[in-house]
Amino acid sequence: MSDPEISVVIPVYNEESVLSLLFERLYAVMERLGRSYEIIFVDDGSRDQTPRLLQQQFKQMPATTRVIILKTNFGQHAAIMAGFGHCRGDYIITLDADLQNPPEEIPNIVHKMDAGYDYVGTIRRKRQDRLWRQVAGRLMNRMREKITHIRITDQGCMLRGYHREVIQPLLSSQEYFTFIPALAYLYAANSTEIVVEHEERAAGRSKYSLFALVQLYFDLMTGFSSAPLRFFSLTGIAVAMASLVFVFYLTLRRLMIGPEVEGVFTLFAIAFFLIGISLFGMGMMGEYLGRIYHQTKQRPRYLIHKVLEQPQPTAVPPA
Ligand code: UDP
Ligand code: MG
Repeated sequence: MSDPEISVVIPVYNEESVLSLLFERLYAVMERLGRSYEIIFVDDGSRDQTPRLLQQQFKQMPATTRVIILKTNFGQHAAIMAGFGHCRGDYIITLDADLQNPPEEIPNIVHKMDAGYDYVGTIRRKRQDRLWRQVAGRLMNRMREKITHIRITDQGCMLRGYHREVIQPLLSSQEYFTFIPALAYLYAANSTEIVVEHEERAAGRSKYSLFALVQLYFDLMTGFSSAPLRFFSLTGIAVAMASLVFVFYLTLRRLMIGPEVEGVFTLFAIAFFLIGISLFGMGMMGEYLGRIYHQTKQRPRYLIHKVLEQPQPTAVPPA
């Protein structure tokens, strides 16, 4: 058995309710495509029936299915990295398990990669998510455009195609906190984008709480730019200069008019505003520091409990 042409990598976390529909649609698409493929499911520490269902699927389609079961929940991006570490195809396609990314779009990505693109990004024609998620996503997209060199129209859609050569440096970079679509973009030589459909979740609920989303967005901001830190240095300089003028002005008034207490609440307002900014700046610094702290410990990004795959033929050494 030689290496397949296409690897599809899918992180799966407590998705028992969508899996049968996913299997049905995904394998049909891949069979119709008529290319050799493998589908790698990464179970990200699910506590429902997901691992059992994946195991069943492996038994049914062992030649084209591989299942990686992680020890516990490491997060969507770490799970995808685990999948990347095991895939053998030249074209690597990532996809969400919840069918928000229609598998029927995979052939369009493959055709673009056939045309020589090593990174095929996607833009959701009409995003089907809660309003607050859409607003947060749009804000984050705009912020990322401003503070990083990453030029992708729609960073949130995980349905993407990467060439093996783009994934290789990503695997060796050992970054603990990653935002895969952005990181891969940095390593791509020839990228393009296509418009894809986006559907509502087929079943189950989003695995991202507000807190998890904030964490992810901070990963994106801190992982690709130090502009937020610079923003606070520049604000600091501006405030220091303004207060110098203010001190001169108050000293002059003190000398000319004498002591006065009016305007004390205006001063409070200014002081609270500045305290707010400095707390925010400290928090921002903490975000960077915390990530450095975790990165220096060099703990593994994920731990594998079990891999279900057909044994690979070992290369026979030449006689
Ligand atoms: N996911 C994961 N680990 C997590 C959270 C999510 O593997 O800790 C998977 C999830 O099963 C799905 C994909 O990542 O396949 C996207 O998650 P979800 O649909 O909940 O995110 P949303 O679409 O709300 O951004
Ligand atoms: Mg989803």
